[in-house]
Amino acid sequence: MTLDIMLKRLGLSTVQRVLPELTPIAEKEAWSYTQFLERLVSEEIAQRAENRIANQVAKAKFPFQATIETFDFTFKSDLKRQMLGRFLGPELVSEHRSLILEGPPGTGKTHLCVSIAYKAIQNGFTARFTTATALINDLRVAHDLNLALKPYLQPNVLVIDEMGYLGYGPGAADVLFQVVDQRYLKGKPILFTTNKPLKHWGRVLHDEELARAIIDRTLHHGEYMKLTGASYRLKGRKIDLDLPAISERATVPKGGDDKSEN
Ligand code: ADP
Ligand code: MG
Repeated sequence: MTLDIMLKRLGLSTVQRVLPELTPIAEKEAWSYTQFLERLVSEEIAQRAENRIANQVAKAKFPFQATIETFDFTFKSDLKRQMLGRFLGPELVSEHRSLILEGPPGTGKTHLCVSIAYKAIQNGFTARFTTATALINDLRVAHDLNLALKPYLQPNVLVIDEMGYLGYGPGAADVLFQVVDQRYLKGKPILFTTNKPLKHWGRVLHDEELARAIIDRTLHHGEYMKLTGASYRLKGRKIDLDLPAISERATVPKGGDDKSEN
């Protein structure tokens, strides 16, 4: 059996690929056998890590690519990177840190949640992005709810985007509660974005009590942040939407439990 075939059989496709390039270099630079082996193995490991991230990003179904590095904190002066630090490390998952990001359109809510979920993937976790509407519609028509819930319960991090953009029909609160409660019991965080203050979630979901239970569980180990200011989409353009001014600063409750505004 040739070396090529043996590498293939072991699934060492990166070693197989880099071997012809590296062998002459190793000879020319007189690498030790160990050095050479180390280099081959580290190439294989690096490539596998890269592949894993690419696979998980595809599975996460992000609406667009966004990273925290491309978020312009000077544009959003009410938001400091430090405030998000607690969501960018492995503690997001190990300490079940959910997040509710509230704010008007274009303030970067989706960008930030995608960035946080992307970091989680880089940190070795899995993530899934969905909108509240898609999740609710998906689960409400499911014949087998337990089966339909799986994609929303399995990932380490779940983003539920645009909570409250539409009024939801009957049954919305129930299925959303299923997701929130079951993830809460498993200690798995959810990142919500919303354009509605928490006290309006009851109206949006047509169920005050379930809305409160959803918020309560989300904020038990999580945080609520409010983004304000102009839309990044309309950056540099003078468009007066003539909307009532919202408070100037983001409000970020301090650590601890029961931060529901309700
Ligand atoms: P929202 O979800 O709050 O409506 P998005 O996160 O979708 O807003 O942001 C709208 C667009 O503007 C996206 O393409 C996003 O990448 C970009 N964006 C928003 N805020 C920022 C920012 N502070 N820095 C860089 N890009 C931003
Ligand atoms: Mg958005």
